[in-house]
Amino acid sequence: MKPQPHSSSTTEQTLRDRFSRPIHDLRISVIDRCNFRCTYCMPQEESGHYKFLDPGNWLSFEEIERLVRLFVACGVSKVRLTGGEPLVRPNLAQLVSRLCPIKGIDDLALTTNGSLLSRHADELKKAGLKRLTVSLDTLDPLVFKEMGGKKADLAEVMEGLAAAEKAGFEKIKINVVVKKGVKDHTLMNLVRHFKGSGHILRFIEFMDVGNCNHWSTEYVLPSAQIMKMINEYYPLEPVKANYEGEVANRYRYVDGGGEIGFISSVTQPFCGNCSRLRLSTDGKIYTCLFATEGTDLRGPMRAGANDQDLRGIIENTWKRRDDRYSENRILIKSHPENERKKIEMFQIGG
Ligand code: SAM
Ligand code: SF4
Ligand code: SF4
Repeated sequence: MKPQPHSSSTTEQTLRDRFSRPIHDLRISVIDRCNFRCTYCMPQEESGHYKFLDPGNWLSFEEIERLVRLFVACGVSKVRLTGGEPLVRPNLAQLVSRLCPIKGIDDLALTTNGSLLSRHADELKKAGLKRLTVSLDTLDPLVFKEMGGKKADLAEVMEGLAAAEKAGFEKIKINVVVKKGVKDHTLMNLVRHFKGSGHILRFIEFMDVGNCNHWSTEYVLPSAQIMKMINEYYPLEPVKANYEGEVANRYRYVDGGGEIGFISSVTQPFCGNCSRLRLSTDGKIYTCLFATEGTDLRGPMRAGANDQDLRGIIENTWKRRDDRYSENRILIKSHPENERKKIEMFQIGG
């Protein structure tokens, strides 16, 4: 793995890991619960394998704000709120208004399944949220329910998206997880629907996050194939990345229909540029989406650690970081004895 050059906003003092990758992005899982049960993400029921956290174990908004200030001091400039379903966390807009004024955050975004947006889009916008990502895998209501569980209602998500547009959110990213054989036939409908809408469709390869989504390579449809299929109908041309370390490969329709992206973690791993840190609902930091263990910040914080102590824990964790799971995936999968128990997607939020 070759570390890549870093973005212009990073400085010589930037905290770097063992492969010289700077810390740049933070994803915060504000709740591990969700009103959907997407088959690729969350088991239908709690089990011996996993129980949801009691609310007393969630970081409070004050605690999140305090940690975010420390992460920013370490070099983070992009923050994304996620989950579980972040809008299931009561009063989320209050967290947005606490984080927005923090100097050093250039970008504050939210990833949501969209089902509760019609209730919350306005207050999120007023609280200062800049950008939205809505996950929407198909426009077929039956396939949608099949993939998202019995509470997954396509009409609600479409209403949520309309509410977000009305509230003033533009260039909304639409995340589409592609599980081969499940809805391949509906992908072109999404392309036709969002082409020219101003929003940005992003196809994501199904990943082996966690241990309970029954991942197998046979369910992975390589992005290159989707891109080829779209290109046959609507010619595409590449667009330069917004910044070093951007995970999506960006394209635009040659006819001016807007932008589209592909996140190909399985077939084209991007560990060399990975600058993301994840904070779980219960206050552990994870340096990789496929991590087995996190480093606890909540315990020390509630035991009275001062900011310097907490910053020391963050810095040491990042400096020790040598994660490159996606680059080693084939090796790991070909030796089942190397398989480890990983953190689940809904605990750290993608
Ligand atoms: N509940 C919110 C949502 O669905 O947008 C936020 C949390 S969700 C875990 C964050 C993103 O991860 C979503 O876009 C979701 O589609 C994606 N995701 C979940 N499981 C995945 C998997 N196994 N492979 C690829 N992407 C996945
Ligand atoms: Fe919920 Fe998002 Fe996971 Fe689907 S992907 S189960 S909406 S957390
Ligand atoms: Fe980053 Fe881990 Fe994904 Fe590699 S596998 S890109 S290190 S999160």
